[in-house]
Amino acid sequence: MQNITEIEELIKLISRLPGLGPKSAKRIVLKLINNRDELTKPLAKSLADVYKNISRCQICGTLKPTLIECSFNKCNLVKKKFDKICVVENIADQWSIESSSIFEGYFHILGGTIGSSGQKKEHLLIESLIQRVKNEKIDEVILATSATVEGQTTAYYIQDSLKYFNVKISKLAQGLPVGGEIESLDDGTLYSAFKNRIGLKLDSD
Ligand SMILES: [Zn+2]
Repeated sequence: MQNITEIEELIKLISRLPGLGPKSAKRIVLKLINNRDELTKPLAKSLADVYKNISRCQICGTLKPTLIECSFNKCNLVKKKFDKICVVENIADQWSIESSSIFEGYFHILGGTIGSSGQKKEHLLIESLIQRVKNEKIDEVILATSATVEGQTTAYYIQDSLKYFNVKISKLAQGLPVGGEIESLDDGTLYSAFKNRIGLKLDSD
């Protein structure tokens, strides 16, 4: 292979994407080189647009046009009022739940779990979840974290943080396979996990 800095840099970057190694990255780069106008140009524009215009809301964690500000009471993207919040670890989980149409309500994306590698609790959107519950008319918080140790630790921490609020807290039913990540579940499993969700009793200490 010739040493062309730009090409090597691109291969290096693409191989960092999920599911891709250096070999697939090279194939992608060749495809791009061979399709400059049909692929490379629109792709470059699309990447720049996403970078410039899309960001995560610092309160609810969902993706939104950067220009739109979300406040505690108002996710400006959601026109309807809901009384439920579904708490998930990441945006992929939100997308899975949305595409299964099981849940109607607000989403709250934590941005990870407590205890997962390199993840600091302070970096998760937990404080803003507490603020949302406090400031909005929320009837139920559904903890839809994964059935992993980290996911369950996170769910427990949130449950504990919300124990003095007058809000129902529930978590997804056992339908979840142990170690199961929400994003990899099929619609049927997700549906029964939501439908049979378990109400968590609040500690009254
Ligand atoms: Zn928001």
